[in-house]
Amino acid sequence: MENAKICRLAEDILGSITDDLNETTYRPLGGKLSIAWSDKTIYGAFASSPGESDKPPQHCITFYYEFVIQVWRDAEYICEFLRGIPKESVYDKLYDVWGDRVKLPSCFSKNDHVKNMFVAAITWVYFHELAHLMQEHGIIRAEFGLTGDKAKKTTDIHDCEVSQEKLIDGREALVSHVTELAADFEATFFYVTELMRHLINPDFATEQERPEVFSGLLYLMVCGISLVFFRFHGNKPFLPTAAVEGSHPNPLPRLQFLIPQIFEQLDLEIFRANGGYSLDRRQLVLLCSKAAFSATLYWSVTNTDNHVFDSRFMLKGIFSDVATLQYLQPIVKIWDEILPRIKEVRRFGVDAGLMDFTETARSRISDLITWGSGPEANAPAVAPSPRDTATS
Ligand SMILES: [Zn+2]
Repeated sequence: MENAKICRLAEDILGSITDDLNETTYRPLGGKLSIAWSDKTIYGAFASSPGESDKPPQHCITFYYEFVIQVWRDAEYICEFLRGIPKESVYDKLYDVWGDRVKLPSCFSKNDHVKNMFVAAITWVYFHELAHLMQEHGIIRAEFGLTGDKAKKTTDIHDCEVSQEKLIDGREALVSHVTELAADFEATFFYVTELMRHLINPDFATEQERPEVFSGLLYLMVCGISLVFFRFHGNKPFLPTAAVEGSHPNPLPRLQFLIPQIFEQLDLEIFRANGGYSLDRRQLVLLCSKAAFSATLYWSVTNTDNHVFDSRFMLKGIFSDVATLQYLQPIVKIWDEILPRIKEVRRFGVDAGLMDFTETARSRISDLITWGSGPEANAPAVAPSPRDTATS
C-alpha cells in the first residue's frame, strides 16, 4: 500500500476512536480529546495535557506519520517472511513446540493479516498515550520525579525513538519508568476490552465464526504489538539489567510484562462468557507465546547482523532472572507511593486499568525468588500460572 493511503487509513481508525471517546467520555466531563499528526521523521507518538486536574480534561495525542508507515511496512514484511518459511526447514520445525506449524491464521486474507496487525499496533500505542493522559503523568512526573530547580510542570509525554530522549537517571528516571509501565498496563486493559467489544459485534463475526476469528485476531494483535516493541528495541540482543536509567524501560521487558497481562485478562470468566471463545488458560498462553515467537523469529532473522534466529531475543517470564526482579523492587515501591495521587487526578476509567502487583508477585520481587526456586519447585511440572507471571 502507498504511504499516503497508510496515513489516511491510520487517520480514519484513530480519528474514529477519538470521536467515540469524545462522545462517551470527554464531552460528559466538559472536556475534549484531540488527535494531531506530524510529518517529522520520528518513530513514535506523544501525549499533551495542560496538567490541570481540577478542570475538565483537554487532552491531545500526536502521532507521527513516519511511525504508522513503518508499522504497516513491518506488518507487511513479517507476513511475507512467515509465509516464505520453507516447509520442513529448521525454522518451520521450531513451531512443533506449539503443536502445529500454522504461522498466520487461515480465517483471514493476506491483506487482512497485515491490516489487523497494523490496527492492533497503532491502536495499542494510541491507548498507551491515552493512559498517560488519563493518569495525568505530566503532573505525576512533576510532583514525584523532579526536585529542586529542575521542578517544573511537564506537559508532554514523549514515546519516541531512543535517540530523541534526554538522558535522565535517579528518581526522575524511576518515576518515568513506572509511569511508562502503568501506561502499558492501562493501554493493554483498554485494548483487550475493545477487542471484545469489536468481536461481539454481529456485523464483524457470526456466533459460529467467533471462536476462530477471536484466535486469529488475538494472534495478529500480539504479533503487531510485539513488532512495535522490537522496532523500539533495535537489533542488539537483550541482556536483563537491574538499572533504572533513561526515560523508558527497555522495550523487551515491557513486552514481557504485558503479554501475560493479555492472557490473564482473557482468562477471566466474564470475558470468556461474553467473548464467545472457549480457549482455556493453557491455550491462551500458547497462542500468545506462539505469536510473540513469530515476531521474535522474524525480527532476529531479518534485523540482526548475522541474519539467523537468535534465542537471546526470546521473551522470558518476569521471574526468570534476578536482574528483572531487582529492577522491579524500586518500581513497586514508587508505584505504591504515587498510586493514591493517580487515583485523585484520574477522571475516568475502571480500577482494573490501574497497574497492580499481587502479594505473590510482591514477595517474589522483594525476596528475589526466580521461577523454579519458589513453591513451584515441588509442584508437578505445569506451565507457570499467569497469576504468578503477570504484574496483575
Ligand atoms: Zn509512554
